[in-house]
Formats: sequence, C-alpha cells, structure tokens
Amino acid sequence: MNSKLENLVWRRAQRICEYCRMPAEYDELPFQIDHVLARKHGGQTVARNLALACFSCNSHKGPNIAGRDSKTGRIVRLFNPRRDSWAEHFHWEGAWLAGLTAIGRATIAVLEINLSHRATLRQALIEEGFFHPAITPKSVSVKRRQPK
Ligand SMILES: [Zn+2]
Repeated sequence: MNSKLENLVWRRAQRICEYCRMPAEYDELPFQIDHVLARKHGGQTVARNLALACFSCNSHKGPNIAGRDSKTGRIVRLFNPRRDSWAEHFHWEGAWLAGLTAIGRATIAVLEINLSHRATLRQALIEEGFFHPAITPKSVSVKRRQPK
C-alpha cells in the first residue's frame, strides 16, 4: 500500500479505530489498515474499501463479512465504516458498546469489542479523561441526507 493512501486512511479516521473508536495513541498495539471487504473476497486496496482499525478489531474481524445478531439469531453483514453511519448502529453505555441494530450487534460480537480487557482499558481512559465516548468525530458520524 502506498504511503499516500495510508495517510489518507489515517487522516480520514482522525487516528481513531473506525469500529470501536479507540484513539491510536492510547491503544497498546499498533493500528492497522483494514480491508472492509477482505482481499480474499475480492476487496480492493482502494480508499473506499479501507478503514483504520485497532489491532484487536482488525484481528478479530479477519476476513469475516458477516456475523450473527445476538437478538434475532439472524446472519447479517458487518458494519461498513465507508457506507454506514456509526451512530446509527452503535451506542456507548459507559465503556460498554451496545448495538442499536442487527448489524451493530453482530459487529460487536465478531470483533469482540466488549472483551473485558478492552472495556477495562476504555474505562480507565474515560476516568483519566482520554476517551470521550459521547464525542462523535466528524468522519464517522456522517449523517445521510433524509429524503424529503
Ligand atoms: Zn477497534
């Protein structure tokens, strides 16, 4: 991947994981560039198929494109940071991430976003004032225009 594309992904995401919202500077492991649609499924290395992901989200996601909604048992696609609005699918309950939709719940489960060590780290950062779950970075809260 060329550095220009890499820089674009980092800048667009404002150095925050586009799935769990962890800021890169406070995570223990280096962030990675995720292929939203994995290469093994034909996903290309182009800006519209790339997202910034923390090591935990990216490694749990792997080549997965779908997961099971814990509420309905249905298999649904995963959250796509390039086409979905984060706030439509997820909601913070303190350091705990809740899914508002089937896609949100399935994504949290596959990416194991609420693993206890991850929630504990977020809780510590909240208490230290470094993680602000209520603040939505512009790049990930793009509101779609509602049809009139
Ligand atoms: Zn993450």
